[in-house]
Amino acid sequence: MSASHLALFSLQGKIAAVSGGTRGIGKAMAIALAEAGADIALLQRDVANTEVRDEIRALGRKCEVLHLDIADHESCTKAIPAVLEAMGDIDILINNAGIQKRHKSIDFPDDDFNIVLQCNLKSVWTLSQAAGRHMVQKRSGKIINTASLLSFQGGINVPAYAAAKGAVATVIKALSNEWASQGVNVNGIAPGYIDTDMNSALMQDQTRYRQLLERIPQGRFGTPEDFKGAVVYLASNASNYVNGEILVVDGGWMGKF
Ligand code: NDP
Repeated sequence: MSASHLALFSLQGKIAAVSGGTRGIGKAMAIALAEAGADIALLQRDVANTEVRDEIRALGRKCEVLHLDIADHESCTKAIPAVLEAMGDIDILINNAGIQKRHKSIDFPDDDFNIVLQCNLKSVWTLSQAAGRHMVQKRSGKIINTASLLSFQGGINVPAYAAAKGAVATVIKALSNEWASQGVNVNGIAPGYIDTDMNSALMQDQTRYRQLLERIPQGRFGTPEDFKGAVVYLASNASNYVNGEILVVDGGWMGKF
């Protein structure tokens, strides 16, 4: 790659906040952003867990762990102000943390429906709004929200998750409509079936697992590392004219007839 191509993807001098960077997709994203040159605020519920922070510091980047519990609205309102205080600025926000609750729709408990909406939708809104206020003021910023294949498909036994992720996809478009003219890019990443803790139960069901593998054109589940390029692209100048888009990273699932 030529120096000018590399510069297009460089995040040198940028400050990124990543929710749910302790493991899975969020961890890979946080490390990818740091490898591209960004300093990182890790937003997580267990601030005593400094494993990823230490990995990022070993890359020579500044990295701080700050508290965020996406289940708690009050905590969500405090996260971006904490990033601004600890890091001095925010250029990139990655709303990655999420949860899933599986029950048949006829049995789906109301409490679980509410918590899934809070964690996967309302928290994304609260953090996007707070970061957006700052970014609109400085007329620059990148917000990347994690959607899902289930933003576009209903799934089975995950009605609240599908509803929340569908709404995240719409919020991405709504925010980009308002903020595109003010220097802020709001985009999303929609993972397909990825080998993380979220899918551990599903992957232990050998029959279902084999059915899914057959359905995925690339013939395998994705890995967290499959998201490194996508997140750096959407966080960098390489995607400056991309707004309101959702980049599907699914091994071809969505395109399959
Ligand atoms: P994991 O279950 O592996 O990791 C979830 C992350 O979210 C962890 O860092 C976890 O932190 C954090 N988290 C969960 N609850 C809270 C909370 N209350 N407050 C703060 N952080 C919390 O998930 P994935 O990496 O697989 O998923 C990442 C994103 O990608 C999610 O938004 C998910 O919905 C989405 N996605 C995943 C797919 C997949 O196949 N895996 C498919 C489509 C979308 P902690 O370590 O503290 O628990």
